[in-house]
Amino acid sequence: MKNEQKNISTAILNQRFRRRDSQGAISMPIYSGAAFEFDTAEEMEEAFLGKSGKHTYSRISNPTVEAFEDRIVHISGAKHAIALSSGMAAISNIFMTIAYSGANIVTSPHLFGNTFSLFLFTLEAFGVKARFCNLLDLEEVARNIDDKTCAVFTEIITNPQMEAADLQALSELAHSKKTPLVVDSTVVPWPAFEAQKWGVDLEVVSSTKYISGGATSIGGLILDHQRFDWSHSPRLEKLVQMAGPKAFTVKLRNEIARNMGAYMSPYTAYLQSLGLETMDLRFKKASNTCKQLAEFLQTLSPVKKVYYTGLKGNPFYAVSYKQFGEYPGAMLTFTLEDQAHCFAFMNRLQIIRRATNLFDNKSLIIHPLSTIYGTLNDEYKRMVSVPANLLRLSAGLEDLNDLKNDILQALQLM
Ligand SMILES: *Cc1c(COP(=O)(O)O)cnc(C)c1O
Repeated sequence: MKNEQKNISTAILNQRFRRRDSQGAISMPIYSGAAFEFDTAEEMEEAFLGKSGKHTYSRISNPTVEAFEDRIVHISGAKHAIALSSGMAAISNIFMTIAYSGANIVTSPHLFGNTFSLFLFTLEAFGVKARFCNLLDLEEVARNIDDKTCAVFTEIITNPQMEAADLQALSELAHSKKTPLVVDSTVVPWPAFEAQKWGVDLEVVSSTKYISGGATSIGGLILDHQRFDWSHSPRLEKLVQMAGPKAFTVKLRNEIARNMGAYMSPYTAYLQSLGLETMDLRFKKASNTCKQLAEFLQTLSPVKKVYYTGLKGNPFYAVSYKQFGEYPGAMLTFTLEDQAHCFAFMNRLQIIRRATNLFDNKSLIIHPLSTIYGTLNDEYKRMVSVPANLLRLSAGLEDLNDLKNDILQALQLM
């Protein structure tokens, strides 16, 4: 059982602000201004040196965003969280902090489309090379890590290939080679997944998904578990003498995030903080619906194969159960005859929406190869292993039977 000792909803709803709001507001108001005023030059100096914890400028920190970050730290078990303007901003900021010209990232080609593109094209231009390998094969991973490896990076369930790596084994291997493990945990949030339990060093989350509260806004989070010895990192080794295990966060907060300028907006933080209050409820319902849809799809003859790690016959069932318990998320994929059948099925759907994104309150469907991976050339399309007859479904909060009936009518089975 996950989180027996504390209920996430209670923890979020019962958390108080660091400093009481001046009006006693029970939800942190939106502090939308750019700058904060000081009574004296001395206080201003203190704030700029980070000695008083006071806000100076909203690109660096902001009361509304800080209250959101505090809630994330409180429920995730991380030591520090920073909120940024998107999941991609979070991933970019991590590699701006730890990568360097000549460094490599050991990862899989089975990645969210823009993460794949960031590693393949954007970082390459700065001398950072992605080593794409099979992260399910630990010997292959071991062969790819060397003293220029700045991180092993994986998604906890790959999207849309639906593989779940054994994170404990991966972190032990990475740590034995003095390399941090960085995971994207967007697809299974904290009610079901506790990253620090499996040795994860840095966690990145697209808060656009479960947290936002129904796709209200774009956002991203970096969570630092502060367990890695950053003296092994050429970018951080000097800082370790002063900051110890906080070296990554100090570098990120004091230099990188400020310079990249992608701090979360207070409007987004307000919406996502509200979203967080109902996340546990929504996530569990959507994950349950997804599991039942996976079982249902398996019984339908036009469906060739269903990929969901919570299915008993799935090759990742055991590792998925170990890491995510009863709730391996609200995303599944399945195959039909061919692309034409996928398109015809999609076009007949009346409840499930044709849209990208994951974990909206509404159920969403997409044909990944023609959309997310549509602009890749044939070589890269082969690397991502996404077949033309594959559909990705994100389960929402609609009634299960209504969703089943929508699928049945779109497959022309009723
Ligand atoms: C959506 C997503 C991202 C990117 O997040 P944005 O908020 O859209 O920038 C990264 N990783 C995964 C697994 C995602 O689903």
